[in-house]
Amino acid sequence: MVGTDVMTAAAPTRPAVSPAKGQAEKPSLIGLNREEMGDLFREVGIPDRQIKMRVSQIWNWIYVRGVSDFDVMANVAKDMRAMLKQNFTIARPEIVEEQVSNDGTRKWLLRFPPRGAGRPVEIETVYIPEEGRGTLCVSSQVGCTLTCSFCHTGTQRLVRNLTSEEILSQLLLARDRLGDFPDRDMPIGTMMPAEGRKITNMVMMGMGEPLYNFEEVKKALLIASDGDGLSLSKRRITLSTSGVVPEIFRTGEEIGVMLAISLHAVRDDLRDMLVPINKKYPLKDLIAACRAYPGLSNARRITFEYVMLKDVNDSLEDAKGLIQLLKGVPSKINLIPFNPWPGTNYQCSDWAQIEKFADFINAAGYASPIRTPRGRDILAACGQLKSDSERMRKTDRLAFEAMMIVGHGEDD
Ligand code: SAH
Ligand code: SF4
Repeated sequence: MVGTDVMTAAAPTRPAVSPAKGQAEKPSLIGLNREEMGDLFREVGIPDRQIKMRVSQIWNWIYVRGVSDFDVMANVAKDMRAMLKQNFTIARPEIVEEQVSNDGTRKWLLRFPPRGAGRPVEIETVYIPEEGRGTLCVSSQVGCTLTCSFCHTGTQRLVRNLTSEEILSQLLLARDRLGDFPDRDMPIGTMMPAEGRKITNMVMMGMGEPLYNFEEVKKALLIASDGDGLSLSKRRITLSTSGVVPEIFRTGEEIGVMLAISLHAVRDDLRDMLVPINKKYPLKDLIAACRAYPGLSNARRITFEYVMLKDVNDSLEDAKGLIQLLKGVPSKINLIPFNPWPGTNYQCSDWAQIEKFADFINAAGYASPIRTPRGRDILAACGQLKSDSERMRKTDRLAFEAMMIVGHGEDD
């Protein structure tokens, strides 16, 4: 069943421009590239000779200044603003819940309005502040069609792909909430200096498999890294995939962001169980695709994520296999302590074993940071995201909290 139904889960198409439509059905200007925005402007009667200027003006308001209301676009004439408002939206999604962890991690549960005949969907976005940087973890799908056995999101069926608008809106909303856009009264054209920003990095590591939603993810990331807009450096954007081999080359070629691979096992028999897409694209093919990743070098290494599961994949034999497998691939190995969730049969490896595993890999010359679990108390850590109708029932939550109290104390 792995990957069979994903291609049918296309992102919903955008509504056509029509002044008669209700507010919720107006097309959003967020997530469109300049050409698409220009086409929409043309459709509502903006003259050809103005299109380029209007696009760059509105682009600046949306992505540099972060406005979500046409009325504050001071250098746009009043009747033009009214016309834009009548035809388009630049509104943010609704925040259903905002949680702040005791370690400063923030998690937003966001609701997007129905698309076409669909129903509203909810997804989660997580902000992780660290010394000298802040990372936003963004979702690409509602749920996931893959069924990695250790992942909470994998227990939720795919509802649909997110549109580029919805993917980018997660970044815009997080920047709003964190005060990461310039003040309203700063002069037009002010760019937020990269050093002062709260969100310095973005990872496609939230809900979903980004490479099963390639086109929308590509569009969103190209806008997020646009130098005249949100201007996140492509070196600070990482896309994580469970191993959708046919799309890996395109990711480097067409998007140009950093790549992370959810490896988790170094033998096909074990990886088939943990990351079932491995049956379709086994390790040999996956590593070959990594070797061919455009731009790969010692300065632009691939991150291999490896979740530490007690007595499953955490032996020194596995560590040895890992080094052999990655021989000659410029890599960083990111060890992720398993984050528990209610109903899982896995346990996190003992801390001493994780350290032994890390030391072994380090001795072989690989950087192998152990990822500190963040935001576990609000279920914001890797693999804990789940949403929508499937949010935890209160009894589950209480059981989970009890598990956390007796569980690992690495957050402290
Ligand atoms: N679908 C993509 C990106 C989202 S998952 C992928 O699989 O790469 C982000 C990372 O969290 C992946 O490396 C995933 O394997 C890992 N992960 C999933 N569940 C986890 C859990 N319970 N504990 C720790 N890491 C987990
Ligand atoms: Fe989907 Fe990634 Fe979770 Fe696997 S680890 S089920 S690909 S979100």
